[in-house]
Amino acid sequence: MTGAPAVEVRNLHVSLDKAPILFGVDLTVAAGEWVAVIGPNGAGKSTLLRAVGGLLPAPGAISLFGTPSEALRRRDRARVVATVAQSPVVPAGMSVFDYVLLGRTPYVPPLGRESAADLAAVREVLDRLDLGGFARRELATLSGGERQRVFLARALAQGATLLLLDEPTSALDIGHQQEVLELVDQLRREHGLTVLATMHDLSLAGEYADRMVLLAAGRVAAAGPPRDVLTEELLSRHYRASVRVLPGEHGPLVVPVRPR
Ligand code: ADP
Ligand code: MG
Repeated sequence: MTGAPAVEVRNLHVSLDKAPILFGVDLTVAAGEWVAVIGPNGAGKSTLLRAVGGLLPAPGAISLFGTPSEALRRRDRARVVATVAQSPVVPAGMSVFDYVLLGRTPYVPPLGRESAADLAAVREVLDRLDLGGFARRELATLSGGERQRVFLARALAQGATLLLLDEPTSALDIGHQQEVLELVDQLRREHGLTVLATMHDLSLAGEYADRMVLLAAGRVAAAGPPRDVLTEELLSRHYRASVRVLPGEHGPLVVPVRPR
C-alpha cells in the first residue's frame, strides 16, 4: 500500500459529441472508503463513473492508486477497477456461470483459455454471493435482485479492489436494495474494497456512504459527510424538490413532501 488514494480526479472536463458535460470536477476517494455520487438526472453522474473506469478519455485528470489512468493498459486497469453499469447488457442465452467468467477475461492470455484457477475463482464468488444454485441458469431468466447479484459477482471475479457501481439498486424493491448494499458493505469490510457508487435513493446513499458528492449540471455542488450534503437547502436548490430531512440512526433521512 502506497497510501495513495484509490481515486484522484482533478479538474475533469468531459464533452460528449461536442456537448460539454463535466466542467472541472474534483473528487478524491481514499482506499477503503465508500463515496456516493448523487445529483439530479442528467447531472453527469454516469459520465463521471465512466471516466473514472477508463471508458472515456480524460487525459491527465484521473489517477487510480497513484498511477495516472492513461498509463494503465487495458488489462492492468481491469485488475484495478471493475464497473457495474447502470443497465448492463444481458447477453442472450448466456448462463450465470459463463457471464461471471467474463470477469476473468483480464487474466486469460490472448488466444488462450481460462485456467482451472479462473473456474475456481468464479465458483468461489458464486458461492460467496449465494448464487451457486444459479450457475447453470440462463442469466436472462433471473429476477432483478438475483441479476444484480450476478453483475456484482462478475465485478468481484475480476479481482479489482475498486468497485464503480452506477445505480446498483434502482431496479430493486427496498428489501433487495438493502440486501445488495449490505453485501457490498460486507465485501468492502472483508476484502478492503473501495466503493464509488452513484445512487438515486438519497436516504440509502447517506446510510452507506462515508462521504457524498452532489453533482449538479456537471459541477460538484457540495461534498462531505452525509449530514453536510443531505440538507433541505442543497436538495431543494439542486433537485428542485420539496423535501424534509430527518435525523436517522445511520444518517439523515430524506423525505419528499408535497409542496404547499
Ligand atoms: P446522470 O447519470 O447524472 O443522469 P449522465 O452522465 O448519464 O447523467 O448524462 C449527463 C448529460 O450528458 C445528460 O444531459 C445527457 O443527455 C448527456 N449525454 C450523455 N451521453 C451523451 C452523448 N453520447 N452525447 C451527448 N450528450 C450525452
Ligand atoms: Mg446515470
